[in-house]
Amino acid sequence: GSNNLQGYAPICVAHEDFYVRRLYLRIQDCFGRPITSAPDAWFDVVERYSNDNNKTLKRTTNISRCLNLGSYNYLGFAAADEYCTPRVIESLRKYSPSTCSSRVDAGTTALHNELEKCVADFVGKPAAIVFGMGYVTNSAILPVLIGKGGLIISDSLNHNSIVNGARGSGATIRVFQHNTPSHLEEVLREQLAEGQPRTHRPWKKIMVIVEGIYSMEGDLCKLPEIIAICKKYKAYIYLDEAHSIGAVGKTGKGVCELLGVDTADVDIMMGTFTKSFGSCGGYIAGSKELIQYLKYTCPAHLYATSISPPAAEQIKSSIKVILGEDGSNRGPQKLAQIRENSNFFRSELQKMGFEVIGDDDSPVVPIMLYNPAKIPAFSRECLKQNVAVVMVAFPATPLLLARVRVCISASHTKEDLVKALKVFDQVGDLVGIKYFPAEPDKE
Ligand code: PMP
Repeated sequence: GSNNLQGYAPICVAHEDFYVRRLYLRIQDCFGRPITSAPDAWFDVVERYSNDNNKTLKRTTNISRCLNLGSYNYLGFAAADEYCTPRVIESLRKYSPSTCSSRVDAGTTALHNELEKCVADFVGKPAAIVFGMGYVTNSAILPVLIGKGGLIISDSLNHNSIVNGARGSGATIRVFQHNTPSHLEEVLREQLAEGQPRTHRPWKKIMVIVEGIYSMEGDLCKLPEIIAICKKYKAYIYLDEAHSIGAVGKTGKGVCELLGVDTADVDIMMGTFTKSFGSCGGYIAGSKELIQYLKYTCPAHLYATSISPPAAEQIKSSIKVILGEDGSNRGPQKLAQIRENSNFFRSELQKMGFEVIGDDDSPVVPIMLYNPAKIPAFSRECLKQNVAVVMVAFPATPLLLARVRVCISASHTKEDLVKALKVFDQVGDLVGIKYFPAEPDKE
């Protein structure tokens, strides 16, 4: 029960110890298994090691067709799609895989300009700028938006790309307790009051950074309360919607739509195309002046090769489907499906006695394991039954807060989810991670 770091860290580094090395190897084996097909509801996974009667670890190259509960393919666009894929192939023929140039040189195609307009309209902001990678969007933009003399107040569980961007900015960083508006207010008061006369504001700029849906927790940002505090203390708000844009809200427009927040109240809207749109890259959306400023100053715009044209086309086409502009009702159906799937899966797990964290409607469904030593067994036993799960552990989470992070997709069928629940039920008993009593079956 005491400081967990001290309890576990030596296990990871004591490579000499035979048993410890085996445990470490098995934990490693749960991560980075090669995949040999598209990240659809089912995909092909290479089993790199097999466990030979608990004695030796043998390298194998078996490929299993597994139910995919790990990819962020929220709306199912990452696999061949009847509307997007033909357009993506066409754009590949027309533009090639790469522009081989940065946006300001020869890397802006008509497609890039159309995409930025399409993204701005979709998220509800006057303008947008796109980048080739979601991670870089955070880590390269934050240092352009704020620097020395500025104050960043960051949610304690913000993604690593935000942490890196904040550190690289040179601004002072303070952290508030995860998704706790009252603590955010406390930090703001402290920072504004610290040794200053009441008329003097000690920071050039204050920026509060939050996520729409937290990637490891699956909970929704308490955005309305946080916005009210930002307004009261005149702080800018930066919202990372990597996991919420396209995935939640009546028409897929993210947490603002879901929680009834006016997008005019969010100064900087960031998101990635790697989750709901089945593509890659990231965006910043905001006022025309902000986006213009970023286009003149952001190194990732000036010096990095622009987003790949087929990836850009994939985003544009998937947004059209979400909005129902492809002439079908598939977009709205996908949105209804992901919501139904997420809520069904979450509530069934809870009935079985698992400790599931996060909020309803969120496609990120984390199941707590706590002890990292349970990771290999859970992952391996699920894989044996053709269910592939993503395990999340230190350093992505605190050391003794290991978890299975299920990502639900609109392309999972009811049968897929029922299969996963059956497997989790058995493996949960085997590994001992049902921390609550199961609900009795109702008549
Ligand atoms: N922000 C958040 C909240 C994320 O979870 C991620 C990655 N999962 C990123 C940014 C980085 O995005 P990408 O994977 O598209 O580079």
